[in-house]
Amino acid sequence: MNERRYLLRTFGCQMNEHDSERIAGLLTADGYVSTEDASDASVVVFNTCAIRENADNRLYGNLGHLRPLKQKNPRMRIVVAGCLAQKDGGTIQQRAPWVDVVIGTHALPGLLDLLHRAETGGPQMDVSEVTEVFPSALPALRGVSHHAWVSIAVGCDNACTFCIVPLVRGPQRSRSIGDVLAEVQGLARRGVVEITLLGQNVNTFGRDLTVPGSPRKPLFAELLRAVNEVEDLRRIRFTSPHPHDFTPDVIDAMAESDKVCEHIHFPLQSGSDRVLKAMQRSYRRERYLEWLERIRAAIPGIAVSTDIIVGFPGETGDDFGETLDLVRRARFDQAYTFQYSPRPGTRAATMEDQVPKPVVQERFDRLVALQEAIALEGMRAQVGSTAEVLVEGTGRKGRTQGRTRTNRLVHLDGEHAPGTFLDARIVAAHPHHLDGELVRETVAVG
Ligand code: SAM
Ligand code: SF4
Repeated sequence: MNERRYLLRTFGCQMNEHDSERIAGLLTADGYVSTEDASDASVVVFNTCAIRENADNRLYGNLGHLRPLKQKNPRMRIVVAGCLAQKDGGTIQQRAPWVDVVIGTHALPGLLDLLHRAETGGPQMDVSEVTEVFPSALPALRGVSHHAWVSIAVGCDNACTFCIVPLVRGPQRSRSIGDVLAEVQGLARRGVVEITLLGQNVNTFGRDLTVPGSPRKPLFAELLRAVNEVEDLRRIRFTSPHPHDFTPDVIDAMAESDKVCEHIHFPLQSGSDRVLKAMQRSYRRERYLEWLERIRAAIPGIAVSTDIIVGFPGETGDDFGETLDLVRRARFDQAYTFQYSPRPGTRAATMEDQVPKPVVQERFDRLVALQEAIALEGMRAQVGSTAEVLVEGTGRKGRTQGRTRTNRLVHLDGEHAPGTFLDARIVAAHPHHLDGELVRETVAVG
């Protein structure tokens, strides 16, 4: 057995993908190589998510599967990282004593140190609550060479009553524009053509950097414009803007920056004002729709995706009807739909009127059916057009897959290397992807 292999499993959102690239970077720098086979691994890392309850069950299920392997190979090190590690801390090693290292979201820079200490000192844990070094400063190993996640801020200052993120990621801390720019310039020099800027609420990026009491606004629009100037970069995406803090200067920056893609992820959560209030989401349905109208007027053809939670405590049939109505009016190109999941420590978890599971399921199914029909109509409207596609790789059926600037997934025949730009004529539509035919390769991967 090779003593220096690691297996890394990532759960949850793009922020975890970003952190996993750093975990892989640290392990690689220490001489490990990656494996997909747990029985061949000397280190297994689960980078976990705590957003919904099933994440917990999944983690303990996965840890249970590893137990016999660890018994066979006591030198195997098992690491639990990420949001569940931050949330559950010592409980993880109580429930699964064969876990060697529990490392929270703020402690990533100490990963190798903890692993080395676990060799001689037994189980280790660091769930400190202060980010001293941004994970962005750590070495990264990316799964693909044409795209990179770029964190612009960690943590969140909001207190949406359903959400555990502020508890596990702490308050917002922004990086400086100079720091972000230096990273993006370095990435572009190394052949990255597309970046996604990450923050829980990108609109408040820089709020913690500005002088309190000064009239200076948050800096997100400024950042977009600065990143747009980076040579050799072709596409800029970002996630997520918060409808409450959205500002017109961001629309202007998007419209005027040619590299910023025509796609926005604009999380709604609920179409009912009563539920939005209980969620502590401080915008209302009409304001949300107004923003959508302004964004679509300024950026023709922009695609819009969203997040919606079904079955928040106290959600009535009428509230849910408001969500369906808003979905009909908003005509989202894509929606990530979630059944509400109570998270210990959040306000909503202790609210009365938790909605029974069968009711949530029935509403959820209706919402998904409506949204699928709307998404399909949006996809059908693309047929006959020609779109620029950035190739991501090969799909299960051996077809090339890539994305348009509007973030629509396109399947086409023929082999094209990841990172290649091509023009494709759209010939057929499905709810979640389009079929395309190659018109020409515009830029082959370098
Ligand atoms: N910062 C982002 C925002 O404000 O939209 C959200 C980040 S969160 C990682 C992604 C999505 O998970 C949320 O938009 C929400 O729809 C969903 N989510 C968060 N907590 C949830 C919960 N307790 N139950 C169900 N879905 C949840
Ligand atoms: Fe969670 Fe709300 Fe912060 Fe998004 S804005 S991470 S939903 S608390």
